[in-house]
Amino acid sequence: MNAGTDRGCVCRVCGGGVRERFRVREMMFGSGEEFDYFRCADCGCVQIREVPEDPAAYYPAGYFAFRARPGLARRPVRAAFDRMRVASHLWGGGTAARWIDRFAKPLDYIPWLRLAGVGPGASILDVGCGTGKLLLRLGLGGFERCLGLDPFLPESIRYPNGLRVLKRDLVDYARTARRRFDLVMFHHSYEHLPDPRATLAAAARLLRPDGCVLVRVPLADSEAFETYREHWVQWDAPRHLYLHTRASLAAAAAHAGLTVERVTCDSTRLQFVGSELYRRGIALQTAGAVRALFGPRELRAFDRRARELNRLGRGDQGVFYLRRT
Ligand SMILES: [Zn+2]
Repeated sequence: MNAGTDRGCVCRVCGGGVRERFRVREMMFGSGEEFDYFRCADCGCVQIREVPEDPAAYYPAGYFAFRARPGLARRPVRAAFDRMRVASHLWGGGTAARWIDRFAKPLDYIPWLRLAGVGPGASILDVGCGTGKLLLRLGLGGFERCLGLDPFLPESIRYPNGLRVLKRDLVDYARTARRRFDLVMFHHSYEHLPDPRATLAAAARLLRPDGCVLVRVPLADSEAFETYREHWVQWDAPRHLYLHTRASLAAAAAHAGLTVERVTCDSTRLQFVGSELYRRGIALQTAGAVRALFGPRELRAFDRRARELNRLGRGDQGVFYLRRT
């Protein structure tokens, strides 16, 4: 079908027509249910043809993001160490922190906060945060003015350290909230939300003038998408409603009065491991499947290839830093 002639489908990001159609199966839990997607002829965004009427039905109680982490709310020794490491990495100084780094797991959020230009005591909103694990870890690192939103949570949560995670939709929250944030983050949640333009507009409304919106998403302008197509692990039908490209993210940002300041790639071996499973018709949650199919040497080769693709800007996960235009 020629672009623009299919009146049933218009890109919900840029208004473009259809370049290509896909039928994709649910593969995380392996229900096999099929969903129609199309690719925009203009911005390249791959999107579900119709947003499911009850998206919550596809987030069962065992969904990984909903496993509670109450133990992370109070860990005084780890908090003392993490605060030293955060200060040292983000604002300089502190040789003791470098020493701790040698023995402790890296703090994954340091590069995001550095590129977002976050200062001490910054206020941070995490959208689609599940039970708030990342916010709890940021709290240990000294960021105590945090809030989480997740409309698919079973119920709102208040942790003993004061962190609140609300069972609420971002667009609805932004309509009435007075609070403003230095950083609004979407860690693989943006692609789950039904209206990409309204979502970024709401994020922009909640932003302090010099704040940053951080969006981590699967990328359709990637080698994994081109190789695996309907079997690409990041498709995750029907939970991923949108598989963005650099162009579609920039279009949604522009609509919200935001500009893409920087994009990096942080794809992992999952793009190969998961997609190879899907190609064989094996659900991602099948116990022992990865070990049965791939040896340690093959997994290390996947890691190397992921790092290489990230360097080339061809990995299947993007990290976008947006600021007010
Ligand atoms: Zn488009």
